[in-house]
Formats: sequence, C-alpha cells, structure tokens
Amino acid sequence: MPSLIPFQGHGLLKSCALFLLAITSCNRASKSEPTSPTPLTTDARSTRQVSTEIWKEFHGERAFEDVKNQVACGPRPAGSAALEKARGLIVAGLQTAGWKTEPQEFTAETPHGPVRMVNLLARFPAKPGQPPATAQKVIVASHYDTKIFSTISFVGANDGASSTGALLELARVLALAPDLATQVELVFFDGEEAVQQFSESDGLYGSRQYSSVLRESGRAAQFKYGILWDMIGDKDLTVTLPLDSPRELTAGLLASADALQSRPFFRVFDRPMLDDHVPLNQIAHIPSIDVIDFEYNAWHTADDTLEQLSPASLQTIGAVTLHYLSQTLR
Ligand SMILES: [Zn+2]
Repeated sequence: MPSLIPFQGHGLLKSCALFLLAITSCNRASKSEPTSPTPLTTDARSTRQVSTEIWKEFHGERAFEDVKNQVACGPRPAGSAALEKARGLIVAGLQTAGWKTEPQEFTAETPHGPVRMVNLLARFPAKPGQPPATAQKVIVASHYDTKIFSTISFVGANDGASSTGALLELARVLALAPDLATQVELVFFDGEEAVQQFSESDGLYGSRQYSSVLRESGRAAQFKYGILWDMIGDKDLTVTLPLDSPRELTAGLLASADALQSRPFFRVFDRPMLDDHVPLNQIAHIPSIDVIDFEYNAWHTADDTLEQLSPASLQTIGAVTLHYLSQTLR
C-alpha cells in the first residue's frame, strides 16, 4: 500500500487506544415500526411525477429510520458478526431502491491480524432488470463500520450510522431520477476506523482498497469528483469542511448550501482531516471532499447515540448534496 499523506505533524488524527473485538448481537429494529413516512420504491420512477428540484425529495425522517436500524445492530467493528448484519441491511435497502450492489471483499492486515472486510459498491441500472453500466462520474460515500472499544459500548450513531442511513435515503431519492442515478456510484466503506491508532497502515482500510482498485483498473479517470459523508447527523449541525477540500468542490457545495438557505450550517475548517476522502484524493486522484461535522463532543464516546442526532441535519446534508449533484450532472 502506498504512503497516503504525512500522518503526523498536521491533520486530525482520530486516535484511540487498542481495544479487543467485542461482537454484539444485532437487534434489528422491529419490522412493525414505521420505516418510512412516504414509502418509495423503484416502481416510483415510472409512475410518479418527480419534481425537477430533486433535493426536495430527500427526507431526513426516512434516513433516520435507516440510521436507527444500523445502530440497533450494536457495535459494528470490521470483521464482526454485527457488521455482517448491518451490511445485510444496507444491501437489502439498496436492492429495494433498485440499485445493484457489488461487494468488494478483501483481507486487511491490521494490528489485530488479518481481518476480512467488505466495501459495498452500488450502481443504478438504466433500465430495471438490466445490469448497470460502470461509467459513473461521481462517487458519494460513507463508512459503515464503527470503532472498536472494549471498555464502552460504542454504537456510532453519528460516527458510522448517520452517513450510512443518509446514503440509503440518497439511493431511494436518486432512483426517482435515473439520469442522475446512473451517473453516481454509492460506496459504503468498511474499515474506516483504525484498530489501534491511525497510521499509514492502520485505518482507512476500505477506502485505500477501493482507491487502489480504481487506480489499477484505470477506472479512476472517469470520476469527476467524490463526496464523502461522515458524522452528518448531529442535531447541532456544523459542517467543518477540511482545509484539504478541493477548491471547486468547496465553492460548489457552499453555493448549493446558499441556494437552499443552509449556508449557516457550513464553515471551512482550519485543518485538514484524515478520513476516507484522503485515499480518493491521493491514491485514485479523484478530487474529493469530506462533508463532516467534527464539532461533536460525543465523538468516540459511549454518548455517540441516537439522542445526539436530528433528522433535520440528515435532511440538510442530503438536500445540499442532491442540489450539487443536480447542478453538476445535468
Ligand atoms: Zn470514528
């Protein structure tokens, strides 16, 4: 694996002590619970009049149901049975929305030894039932694993589940606009969290793998940009766009935020951030931005629970992202 970036001296290093793997059973949210205020299916694309303002179709409440389903699986470190079940929920959600999922399996060499990890890549077929093309132009991504702790029960409501649930809602909304959906590759990264402490060889396992495959296959060149979501559910939403954000992406996203009266939720951070966008930028050379709210006191604590989150925050990020996608892909 090539060296990514200088991991020391600058940047926010998400560091934590070494903890043992804790496998927890998955208590999936009851099927009797309402899961969607406005159910969407892929059939909708042929039967429903969709606003040209596609961002208005993104519903934070519906995204929040998927966040809850992820959290209900309990702690979800890479390689755990709980993450396997969380992965099953993602695949099922994507399938219901009409997306085809490609699992990208690999074995990561971690300080705990080899761990099997699985990125999920989702693509939308131009016609139902047909295999999707692979000529997407944009990546929208999240990580779905949670950091491993032995001393606390860490369910990662914001750090892992928030962006994952929102990405499933994005899949449903994009399915209403196949001309957009076919241009977007949705990626759910495994192994974002370091097993011990972020270094060149610990952490960002999934995005390093995905980016390396993109580069080696020659597929990286087809992508215009990438958007990473991470920790986007805090009820006190303050997106802290890192210093390493590509200029054009920053300007475009802020313009979209402006257009939707959401600009006050965004600011430019004074430091770079070490997150899954870094391998996309540095290995795949795809200009990529980390839409992250790093002003989050519950980060990597037992308090990172659903109580900290707000569906409204998910909706803000979903709508701004969709606005930007529609501005740049149509
Ligand atoms: Zn984390």
